[in-house]
Amino acid sequence: MHRTTLGDFELTVVSDGTYFLDGGAFFGVVPKTLWSKKAAPDELNRLDAGLNSLLVRTGKKNILIETGIGNKLPEKMAQIYKQPAKLLDNLHAAGLAPEDIDIVINTHLHFDHCGWNTVRRGDQVVATFPNAKYYVQEQEWEHGRLQLERDAISYMSPNYDPLLENGQMVLLNGDLELLRGISVKVFPGHTANMQAVIIESGGKKACYISDLIPTSHHLDVTWVMAFDLFPLQTIESRKKYYSWAIPEKWLTVFTHDDQTPWGYVERGERNRLTLKFP
Ligand SMILES: [Zn+2]
Repeated sequence: MHRTTLGDFELTVVSDGTYFLDGGAFFGVVPKTLWSKKAAPDELNRLDAGLNSLLVRTGKKNILIETGIGNKLPEKMAQIYKQPAKLLDNLHAAGLAPEDIDIVINTHLHFDHCGWNTVRRGDQVVATFPNAKYYVQEQEWEHGRLQLERDAISYMSPNYDPLLENGQMVLLNGDLELLRGISVKVFPGHTANMQAVIIESGGKKACYISDLIPTSHHLDVTWVMAFDLFPLQTIESRKKYYSWAIPEKWLTVFTHDDQTPWGYVERGERNRLTLKFP
């Protein structure tokens, strides 16, 4: 389990396990001859992708950023993606029960980012974290509700609508400091309203950058996933992110990297982006 301190805060990577993604979809327009040197696919062209949530212990509050795939996937999707469902076990290993989580932040509402928001109990769908407030951008939720041809499959309302109905989920409008040292910032590209989470304590910063830079293999601004709705905006958002994160030495947390959950992005020789490990 990856764990570090950031000022007064403690950060722990808590994984829901790994799932399958198609290598071509994961690396978009990048030729396979290039990406397969970094990540080797299986005979069905699949890669193992991580499902990294980040637990932030501030000393007063326990904050969980992202909740993986969960355990409610329909049979067919569970066969395609796998349904690892390890988040609660790993949370337990980190010393916490679901009741201990005070805040859950979803960067966006694709099924592989908010699956453990809820669980089935009998014929009901209820909050996995009974004492938590959940936060997501309002326009992200609005987009999911449209159920568009392109991405309806990614938006499964049982992951969030029961929480809106019982008042546990709060919809946000734009950038905001949720509590001291925990802010959300919208970076358009993957979706129009995906938010990253910026964590700051003792003059140090970390950022859960989510699908703007899904793995350490996606540092190059042009290595954009085919899933992204607005690839040109992904490029602009990455440039903006690097303009802050590189000079200020932010610890970048990668959602879908099963090997390297975090690191410091640096500019090396010939302007190449590289990663330094904490
Ligand atoms: Zn996504």
